[in-house]
Amino acid sequence: MEVLNFSPIPIVDLLKNALLWCSVFPDDLSTEEESVAARLIDGKALALQVRERLVGESAAVLAKTGMKPGLATILVGDDPASHQYVKSKQKACDAAGIYIDDHKLPASTTQAELLALIEKKNADPKIHGILVQLPLPKHIESRVVLEAVSPNKDADGFHPYNFGRLVEGNPVFEACTPKGVIKMIESTGVGIEGKRAVVLGRSNIVGKPLALMLLQRNATVTICHSKTKDLAAVCREAELLLVAIGKAKFVTADMVREGAVVIDVGTNRWTDGKLCGDVDFESVSQKAGWISPVPGGVGPMTIAMLLENTVESAKRMAGML
Ligand code: NAP
Repeated sequence: MEVLNFSPIPIVDLLKNALLWCSVFPDDLSTEEESVAARLIDGKALALQVRERLVGESAAVLAKTGMKPGLATILVGDDPASHQYVKSKQKACDAAGIYIDDHKLPASTTQAELLALIEKKNADPKIHGILVQLPLPKHIESRVVLEAVSPNKDADGFHPYNFGRLVEGNPVFEACTPKGVIKMIESTGVGIEGKRAVVLGRSNIVGKPLALMLLQRNATVTICHSKTKDLAAVCREAELLLVAIGKAKFVTADMVREGAVVIDVGTNRWTDGKLCGDVDFESVSQKAGWISPVPGGVGPMTIAMLLENTVESAKRMAGML
């Protein structure tokens, strides 16, 4: 005869059942729903995907032309942060099968000497991209130097020709940071077309080109800056809020629309010395739908886009695009 076993139901199972019941009636969990955290836009993981793809593309360039895609890196002076940036970029290039032509020049380098080096690299067939690390020493005019880089090797996308092509809606080389931000927005699946986008910051290297890239993808774009009135109200309209102002934790939850995609370009040091963005991650991540962290957000994507621009340039020159 079968013996029925009526053992007591463990408390854990009772709790599980209660939670299951609540999920059938989600209104009962309203307080929990209100504090749902934003999904993370993992720039590091996205950058890795791009870099892995570029390994294959670099190999294809090598197979067709007998040359790897080549990037000349030019660094003037002793700024430790700039040395670190260039080192990270070179390491990433190496891993992606990109040839690095490294030039570290003393702070005393004259503008004429720097221009002569750029001229040489413009004419070098092994080089498909030229990176001049900014900032340059005060005695050198950055604008003159950046304009000296051939628009056909402008891996950073800073040359006025390439900026003009972007304005025209027909870009060739696009600036790396805003290009990376666009890919990060696209990775969410939220879509850009028809969205209300607010770009905080109007620099030539981030804010302005980013606004143009969003416009090209049919967003309705507002650009804000230090003279914008009622900034918080403008930001609250944004379905896509892109922040590049260089002010630590400036954007707080009250400036963000519920469910917005928030991308933080800022790179700042907080009072404890730790790296932080322009967005107060802790509070904003409780309100946004998607948010990028600092570090691990836009930074790695900027490097990945430099590599992508170099490989694309090599493909263009080889007639592979
Ligand atoms: P930038 O040239 O200093 O420009 C800052 C912009 O922010 C300006 O347009 C300025 O307005 C605006 N702004 C400043 N304070 C403001 C305020 N209180 N309210 C509204 N707007 C304000 O800076 P950037 O070169 O674009 O860089 C911005 C940040 O991004 C920095 O932290 C930088 O380190 C970081 N960054 C990161 C990467 C990366 O790869 N992760 C790349 C580039 C930059 P005005 O024009 O009116 O002065």
